[in-house]
Amino acid sequence: QTIGDNLDATVARVPDRDALVDRAAGIRLTYAELGAEVDRLARAFVAAGLEKGDRVGIWAPNCAEWVLTQYATAKVGAILVTINPAYRLHEVTFVLRQAGIRMLVTAPSFKTSDYVAMVDAARAECPDLEQVFVIGRESWSDLLGRAGEVSPERLTMVQAELGPHDPINIQYTSGTTGFPKGATLSHHNILNNGYLVGETCRYTEEDRICIPVPFYHCFGMVMGNLAATTHGSCMVIPAPGFDPALTLEAVAEEQCTSLYGVPTMFIAEWSLPGFDPAALSSVRTGIMAGSPCPASLMTRLIETGIEEMTICYGMTETSPVSTQTRTDDSFERKVGTVGAVHPHLEIKVVDPLTRETLPRGESGEFCTKGYSVMLGYWDEPDKTAEALVDGWMYTGDIAVMDDDGYVQITGRIKDMVIRGGENIYPREIEEFLYTHPDVLDAQVIGVPDDRYGEELCAWVRMREGATPLTAESLREFATGQLAHYKIPRYVRIVEEFPMTVTGKVRKVEMRQVTVSELG
Ligand code: ATP
Ligand code: MG
Repeated sequence: QTIGDNLDATVARVPDRDALVDRAAGIRLTYAELGAEVDRLARAFVAAGLEKGDRVGIWAPNCAEWVLTQYATAKVGAILVTINPAYRLHEVTFVLRQAGIRMLVTAPSFKTSDYVAMVDAARAECPDLEQVFVIGRESWSDLLGRAGEVSPERLTMVQAELGPHDPINIQYTSGTTGFPKGATLSHHNILNNGYLVGETCRYTEEDRICIPVPFYHCFGMVMGNLAATTHGSCMVIPAPGFDPALTLEAVAEEQCTSLYGVPTMFIAEWSLPGFDPAALSSVRTGIMAGSPCPASLMTRLIETGIEEMTICYGMTETSPVSTQTRTDDSFERKVGTVGAVHPHLEIKVVDPLTRETLPRGESGEFCTKGYSVMLGYWDEPDKTAEALVDGWMYTGDIAVMDDDGYVQITGRIKDMVIRGGENIYPREIEEFLYTHPDVLDAQVIGVPDDRYGEELCAWVRMREGATPLTAESLREFATGQLAHYKIPRYVRIVEEFPMTVTGKVRKVEMRQVTVSELG
């Protein structure tokens, strides 16, 4: 099946169910309406000259038109290139050129970004870019106005030409560890992953999923949108960008049954002044993913009443989910692991140097193989060959698998700190720092050191009114609980961490800042 065929099946099955709510724009669509809007836009794209395999960029924050573009391009068989809404001129020019984008859908502006001005500035350097459609402006209504030039029968014929293994999507990775890479994914990759994520969350047409995570990333567009449309559930967009108060308001007013977020989003919601867990009483399940999910935070979510909350682990390159906790897992596994392997996939943990499979219980590089593995990095054969060997995706993440196949992610190979010959996983120290009553959030990095090679530095966000932690008071707190070499030598108190728009902490940037401060 292709994404378009699957949407058609859902529309036929649950036409009167709510499909999409865009709260900022006041748009509400049932599946019948969503199906009709998607078809109209798909016919308009065909009229504008879009063909199978062409790249269409979308550069906009979360909105209803984003979802329409996602499904309309899938029906035409064009490859949707999802562009980070936080990108600026230099980055968007890179993507427009790298992916050879022919048509671009964008919003007029968002926050401090004037997309139209940036696209105008980029155009001269992007010879492939022929047409730009600005949502809500004349170019967008002109596009929609062309739908009449293409009959529904012709769209059906276009759709019938597509195959499940055609590339349908280029998604850039978050850029947590460096420059983003464009993962090329097929219908088969992401449609099945979305479906299986929805199965694990036990979605039905009764479910309403609150999606505050960005659509440009697989967490939003696959685990959110595709999980919803494969199960007839409703996608709720609380706001164009992440806003903790609007997210909670959307949950309460839309009676959402599922809530998504990266850990920092849940922390932001839970630390809003006057936060009342009762506001979440409709929520049954949800997904926390994207970066290490602290056990203490997961415990709090479950104790708040979201008993079927799950954790997913995955990466853009694998559509994305490889492991997920299950709603019927034991409490310890729900809070302390990223679950076991998803159906129809294989996983292994290998020695990062020799790539030999390691015994259970030993930590090494996590690898996954199966339907979800990307076709490759777009136009980067060398990077593809490095990451993909014999169908196995080498993730760069460090994991331990227990005898029952439950996985813990202990860090990224690139974040591992080697101090005086000892391998240190910052994650372990971060988990420890969370046990300090005054610590709101903490991140640990390695910085160069003449004597030990590397030393640890903790960036700490304190709770309001708490006495700031110092290197001395941290040492006092940690002594007897952490091995001496794991106690951070430096402590830096901050208000915020440098983040990617997907809400991930950019340790690369933290290292640069700390190194320049330490001189
Ligand atoms: P880049 O590859 O550009 O450096 P990125 O790896 O952050 O950025 P994504 O594909 O968005 O880009 O994120 C996947 C990564 O996120 C995984 O490789 C892993 O390091 C991390 N991750 C995802 N889920 C979890 C989780 N549940 N626990 C720990 N880490 C996670
Ligand atoms: Mg990555």
